Amino acid sequence: MPDSHGFKGNKAALPAKPCAVCGRPMSWRKAWARNWEQVRYCSDACRRRRAEAPR
Ligand SMILES: [Zn+2]
Repeated sequence: MPDSHGFKGNKAALPAKPCAVCGRPMSWRKAWARNWEQVRYCSDACRRRRAEAPR
């Protein structure tokens, strides 16, 4: 088995991280390019759910 192909030919692997509310993996979106670090929720629904929860 060749050891040189760690990725399945996908060189442009996009970052992903779990949603802070539902935990589902969010794939990187172009719309989030500028604020990817601050994106925590996969959708507005999750954002609202988080906002409702008291700290
Ligand atoms: Zn979510």
